[in-house]
Amino acid sequence: MSKRVLITAGGSGIGRAMAEAFHAAGARVCVVDVDARALASCPAAWQREPLDVTDEPAIAALFARLRSSWGGLDVLCANAGIAGPTALIEDIEVEAWRRCLAINLEGAFLFAKHATPPMKAQRSGAMILTSSTAGLFGYPNRAPYSASKWAVNGLMKTLAMELGPHGIRANSICPGAVEGPRMEAVLAKEAAIKGTTRDAIYAGYAGGTSMRSFVKAEDIAAMALFLASDAARLVSGQIIAVDGHTENPDPKV
Ligand code: NAD
Repeated sequence: MSKRVLITAGGSGIGRAMAEAFHAAGARVCVVDVDARALASCPAAWQREPLDVTDEPAIAALFARLRSSWGGLDVLCANAGIAGPTALIEDIEVEAWRRCLAINLEGAFLFAKHATPPMKAQRSGAMILTSSTAGLFGYPNRAPYSASKWAVNGLMKTLAMELGPHGIRANSICPGAVEGPRMEAVLAKEAAIKGTTRDAIYAGYAGGTSMRSFVKAEDIAAMALFLASDAARLVSGQIIAVDGHTENPDPKV
């Protein structure tokens, strides 16, 4: 795959797994992350850009640099997102709500906005937005996160309709609970809210899926690779869950 791929939040977690998968497939990779240390730990073969996905002037400058170095862009993985507060609705501060929406939704919008002109110019491109199963169901104690991920799916649907006639596809991936430090923090907070243990919450999440499983970042990366590939040339406007099939998004533990 000789594609030029830009991945937000590529310094760790799912974004990093995507970058590794695209790099291994022969793509040119640029990773964006707000965490300079995470970026420093990425392979030097990747273009590494320290940037907050809510900072539009910095995003515009990044796209200007990519225009000079790459001359275009084939794949955007708008992946950055924070978990936001895990709290009862009446305990959520409006600032925490706004921060979650700003990174998860506005960040995806800003990258899609700036990726559109180069993709339109070449009449091809694939945008892959990372949503969540929280964008398919309600998600008790995670109101801003769930709202942001439903909105990401709405943004993706609109991108697919607006940009399809220009040869640009858009899809979103909804990961289930992914093993790693981020999910561990959520498990600990939910255990505290529900007055139970981390293991009970974990078992509840896994048990809420048909496959009785958490997901690995590599599972999400594999789907991104497919959606970016020419094999998916007519796949657009789709919300694709990679979650072991969620049967019950709120297991009562
Ligand atoms: P993560 O918490 O591991 O973070 C990945 C990276 O995002 C970090 O390196 C961090 O520095 C970076 N980041 C955070 N805020 C940023 C900002 N404002 N600008 C630029 N970079 C920023 O995340 P993850 O678990 O890999 O999640 C990636 C995406 O997948 C998110 O959109 C998340 O909502 C979604 N998701 C994750 C899970 C899960 O269980 N981990 C489940 C469903 C969906």
